[in-house]
Amino acid sequence: MEAGGHGEEAISRTDLNPHERTLDPEDWEAFRALAHRMVDDMIEQTRALRTQPAWQSPPADVKRAILEEPLPREGQSAGQAYADYLHLVQPYTNGNRHPRAWGWVRGNGTPIGAMAEMLAAAINPHLGGGDQSPTYVEERCLQWLAQVMGMPATATGILTSGGTMANLLGLAVARHAKAGFDVRAEGLAAHTPLTVYASSEAHMWAGNAMDLLGLGSSRLRSIPVDENFRIDLAALRLKIREDRAAGLQPIAVIGNAGTVNTGAVDDLEALAALCREEELWFHVDGAFGALLKLSPRHASLVRGLEQADSLAFDLHKWMYLPFEIGCVLVANGEEHRAAFASSASYLEGAKRGILATGLIFADRGLELTRGFKALKLWMALKAHGLNAFSEMIEQNMAQARYLERRVLEEPELELLAPRSMNIVCFRYRGRGAAGDELLNALNRELVLRLQESGEFVVSGTMLKGRYALRIANTNHRSRLQDFEDLVQWSLKLGCEIEAESQAART
Ligand SMILES: *Cc1c(COP(=O)(O)O)cnc(C)c1O
Repeated sequence: MEAGGHGEEAISRTDLNPHERTLDPEDWEAFRALAHRMVDDMIEQTRALRTQPAWQSPPADVKRAILEEPLPREGQSAGQAYADYLHLVQPYTNGNRHPRAWGWVRGNGTPIGAMAEMLAAAINPHLGGGDQSPTYVEERCLQWLAQVMGMPATATGILTSGGTMANLLGLAVARHAKAGFDVRAEGLAAHTPLTVYASSEAHMWAGNAMDLLGLGSSRLRSIPVDENFRIDLAALRLKIREDRAAGLQPIAVIGNAGTVNTGAVDDLEALAALCREEELWFHVDGAFGALLKLSPRHASLVRGLEQADSLAFDLHKWMYLPFEIGCVLVANGEEHRAAFASSASYLEGAKRGILATGLIFADRGLELTRGFKALKLWMALKAHGLNAFSEMIEQNMAQARYLERRVLEEPELELLAPRSMNIVCFRYRGRGAAGDELLNALNRELVLRLQESGEFVVSGTMLKGRYALRIANTNHRSRLQDFEDLVQWSLKLGCEIEAESQAART
């Protein structure tokens, strides 16, 4: 065959030893020395976390150096890139890996998880599927997770970037399984509107997923909650009946196993029964709460979750793994595949060769090229054992219980929601008889000052009109003393803010 033509230069045999480039290092020994230094530094930084500020805002010159750097057309060397990382990036993160980080719901990451990420990047496998060990590692991890969650043997799953994507995929399977027509081919335009139900405490992914799936965010029916922030079952039944009467087609109920605000768990067994009765899909968002299944002592708090048609949860929150890793499990593997599988000639399966076994993961979600997220899970489970995670979760629960008790003991602090699992919501109420409006301003300021002190990463939320400090404990580095320190700092700063605002008013 003749090379070239069409304006390209012909390549002759004498050209077969040209100076072609690669991105591999020219000097492997120099690269090895640099790489070892990176690992050594990383380990030292992790070991010294407690001596570092929990969070600090990147200084102006650092922000400028990052945001105003011209596109580097010529290389500066790997050593220079690493020096810039050390100086500009490493010290200035959100702080979630710190022992005193309990803001929003974020995990710490683990050293073995970080090393596994590096190893995964080094072998760089493509996790669409195919006949390779990484495929079998992910598949085995999914089976382990299904076993831990108590899902049936027919379940299949896929690892995702996080809970949002896992929940979206679960709802996509629900849409396909319950629409009653070929929604993938026909779309929704010519059909009766489909409705989905969740409590008013559902995470924001749900509205976004409804929007993206073409169902429409207004077709997500927001059902009120009881005093424990659990879905009101009578109101749910009523809304389903009303919607049917109005000619709409209910397809699914989303149950919360740990709401993002307060950690509330809906009555999952009752929801499962209701879904069976009404022939609706039962999806459970167990982003962090589902992990209670790992603890024999606390698993009963999320009883009923194993009856889900689809279950989404994160492994980068309460399994402490480095971002990103979430998971969705679908009880009926056939329904899972039917919602996503498609055929393309360039991906044709075969009985032999690299694509033997097919692209099983491409058939269970939206992405084709996927990284090897399973390795950090597989190695973490093998290194620590499942029981270590069970004990960590129980430790986090005990710490949250301690904080709740301390809040109740301090007359100047006030619990704002019943503690469910690992989330404690409270506020500083001081000695005065200030109304909610003043206390909301005071506690907003308190959250900011706690953050800016560099001592704690905490966040707040609004609960029935009252602003709360919200402590979500998915931290494997926290000690009981850290929670005691939080109580003391809250009292001290709360008192200071109160005094300042009184001085300003007089
Ligand atoms: C965090 C969270 C999500 C979203 O998961 P991401 O991993 O952040 O995408 C969904 N639901 C609940 C209850 C959560 O706590």
